[in-house]
Amino acid sequence: MGRIADEIKLIHDELPQGVELVAVSKFHPVESLAEAYDAGQRIFGESRVQELLEKIPQLPADIRWHFIGHLQTNKVKQIVGRVAMIESVDSLRLLDLIDSESRKAGVMSRVLMQVHVAKEETKFGFAPEELKAYFEERRFEQLTNTHLCGVMGMASNTDDMERVRADFHEIAEVHREILAIAPDLRGFDSVSMGMSGDWQIAVEEGSTMVRIGSRIFGERNY
Ligand SMILES: *Cc1c(COP(=O)(O)O)cnc(C)c1O
Repeated sequence: MGRIADEIKLIHDELPQGVELVAVSKFHPVESLAEAYDAGQRIFGESRVQELLEKIPQLPADIRWHFIGHLQTNKVKQIVGRVAMIESVDSLRLLDLIDSESRKAGVMSRVLMQVHVAKEETKFGFAPEELKAYFEERRFEQLTNTHLCGVMGMASNTDDMERVRADFHEIAEVHREILAIAPDLRGFDSVSMGMSGDWQIAVEEGSTMVRIGSRIFGERNY
């Protein structure tokens, strides 16, 4: 068995029941994804539209692709209906566009709302207050072809693991607050957080979906 298969199995063994693994395969060749697939992995995360569209036809059809990168509005049309989930909805304009393109295509899109909590960097995503206001105002009721499935977030890029834990705690807290604000929301269950260097902490803080790349596939050559 190869190294990729070994890593997949190790992570699956360690993940608690109910926590899904998204294998982040960006910048890695389809051969590496095929090895992960053969080891039982079915959810793959990609962050660039062009790369994703090239990989989809080369791999088995039962793969569930998650888009995890910043999605430019002019590329929405290209991925709607082709991915199982868009994890990185970072603006209302993008959300509205996903909804309208999904309506045109006659599909339901499953998405996560990206929350921005890391303070020292400019990362994409909604500020917690902004996101909570969206649910307080019940603007989600306007969506016809988009299923809001939860939140996604990243911790600060730091070696300070207490800081990382606090960031994950805040992401999970935003999720709990949204559920309290709109208790009738159905299926808003996912909390996607945790990467190669911090996923155990994310799971302790309530992650239901970890996105792991380099630990499985090795370092990326950009
Ligand atoms: C690249 C990426 C990951 C995976 O990062 P690793 O450190 O390689 O595990 C997770 N989430 C997002 C949004 C990414 O862009």
